[in-house]
Amino acid sequence: MSNIVTIVCLAICMASTQLNADASAQWKPTKNEVPPLAQRVLESSNIVSDLLELINQNFNNTEQFPVDRLRIVLGSGGAPTANLDTLTLSLPYEYLNNAISGHAELEETQEAALKRGIDTVEYTLYHLLAHVISKDLSPDNDDTAEAISSWLMIKAWPNGGEQWFENAQAFGRASQLLDGPLEDYWHAHSLYKSRNKIINCWILGSNPGKHEALLGSILDPVKRRNDCTHAWQKLNRSMQELLMPLLKPESELLR
Ligand SMILES: [Zn+2]
Repeated sequence: MSNIVTIVCLAICMASTQLNADASAQWKPTKNEVPPLAQRVLESSNIVSDLLELINQNFNNTEQFPVDRLRIVLGSGGAPTANLDTLTLSLPYEYLNNAISGHAELEETQEAALKRGIDTVEYTLYHLLAHVISKDLSPDNDDTAEAISSWLMIKAWPNGGEQWFENAQAFGRASQLLDGPLEDYWHAHSLYKSRNKIINCWILGSNPGKHEALLGSILDPVKRRNDCTHAWQKLNRSMQELLMPLLKPESELLR
């Protein structure tokens, strides 16, 4: 356990390499520096390239969401941010390191802590993207951001329900540790227990047979299954209506 904390501290100090990615680019380090832990972990996780693939496959280049201008910048310190003018999502390595350190206190192995750190960052990435898509960065828009981000992940990927369950759980746990940039971000974009329940309900409702085992014992499985199926169908309809102007007509998200 002490090993990972040392590496994490080192990575924070070395987190100076900056990567730029946009909707048409893959990973291209701008400097020949030894990658810090966070960069190596992010690269091997594919969460950014997967998100870019999702955007390229499903979204048109529109005035409301000009995907050709979207940039995902990795590196530096501070909290994750989104900028509506430059269409930039910033994911500081410090934030990932912070999440990994937090999870290292809760997980048995370094591998588990790294995975939970990535899950935390993936939750954050989809959340910020949803703020950008809805052109509103304020915490008042978090209900919409959670709806868009949940729908995108659950709908777009074959294992999206399982992954979103892991991501929301990891973000919820990490943010309770209230440390550094994680704390700053957490205060602005909290995932409250009541909202996490709604997310879990959407996950269940999107495929009850597949996802019921994720969600533990329940008092009234039939009622919950029906309620959550309806909740997912309602979310699906409202997101398709909301995002149709931005999506390619052939997008699987509209099916
Ligand atoms: Zn938010």
